[in-house]
Amino acid sequence: MERIKVLIAGSGPAGYTAAIYAARANQAPVIYSGMELGGQLTTTTVVENFPGFPEGIDGTVLVDNMRRQAERVGAEIRTGTITSCDLSSRPFKATIDGNLTVEADTLIIATGASAKYLGIPGEQELRGSGVSACATCDGFFYRKQDVAVIGGGDTACEEAVYLAGMCRKVYMIVRRDQMRASKAMQQKVASKENIEVLWNSLPKEVVGDLKGVSGIKIEDKISGDIRTVPVSGVFLAVGHHPNSEVFAPWVKTDKDGYIITEPDSPRTNIPGVFAAGDVMDVHYKQAITAAASGCRAAIEADRFLQGQ
Ligand code: NAP
Repeated sequence: MERIKVLIAGSGPAGYTAAIYAARANQAPVIYSGMELGGQLTTTTVVENFPGFPEGIDGTVLVDNMRRQAERVGAEIRTGTITSCDLSSRPFKATIDGNLTVEADTLIIATGASAKYLGIPGEQELRGSGVSACATCDGFFYRKQDVAVIGGGDTACEEAVYLAGMCRKVYMIVRRDQMRASKAMQQKVASKENIEVLWNSLPKEVVGDLKGVSGIKIEDKISGDIRTVPVSGVFLAVGHHPNSEVFAPWVKTDKDGYIITEPDSPRTNIPGVFAAGDVMDVHYKQAITAAASGCRAAIEADRFLQGQ
């Protein structure tokens, strides 16, 4: 069976940064990319808050640069997802796509987070026929049409602004009387004439049929009134959940599934297993903080291997 010194799960900023550091420490890291090569950055538009790019940089380009940098310094990047693992003893065992099993002396879990869904009627039935969690992936299909974005965070604002550039009208459905998003993102929303924010609005149902979505039913929290806003696309931006399920039988997680690490450290409860990026970050969830935690995980993995 193949034995890997530093096995990295996930190919976002945390995974690639860990790979860059581990490769430069001569630990021959191997990344299994997961289902979404490049992670969440590939679903954003321009990234303006990653230092080093004064004009901003396209999210896909940024993460692809990280991949190329990791490969150039010697990391091996493989397509595949860790579907199960045994972390009860070292070397750890990880099974890829349900068939190939590899051994690893250390494991860095950098599997990120995935979009949440609401669990309202119509949502799952119309996924792919008008319901989406990625405006940059699917917005194109709704050119010159009316759409709704659900959520009031940075992602919702970013998606609404992106969609406003191609759609006739964008409704932002926000469940409170204020947004969670940063002031800068809220200002961008306010500057778009074709975005209308529907405050205090609770999404109740996605309305549609075999032809696709025709509207979103919302309840006004103040008056209790229920109405259907006619739209042909509904974009969900209501947060993310950490992709820790495969590792949760072994590593400690909190009630929401975030991997718990030692204070100010990427070390999990299992010696030799580290966590980095959005899978363990309850608070910040930025590309730059994910990259930084990937760096810390790789340094710790190297120290762990040196100590063996
Ligand atoms: P988020 O900050 O958790 O915001 C989720 C939004 O969805 C909130 O407005 C929340 O409302 C709403 N929501 C949650 N459940 C809902 C439900 N059942 N029905 C209706 N609305 C619901 O998630 P995010 O926007 O994905 O951002 C995640 C992290 O990434 C944040 O730290 C953010 O700053 C960061 N991010 C940064 C950028 C950037 O800097 N360019 C871009 C994207 C994301 P409540 O406020 O009422 O809870």
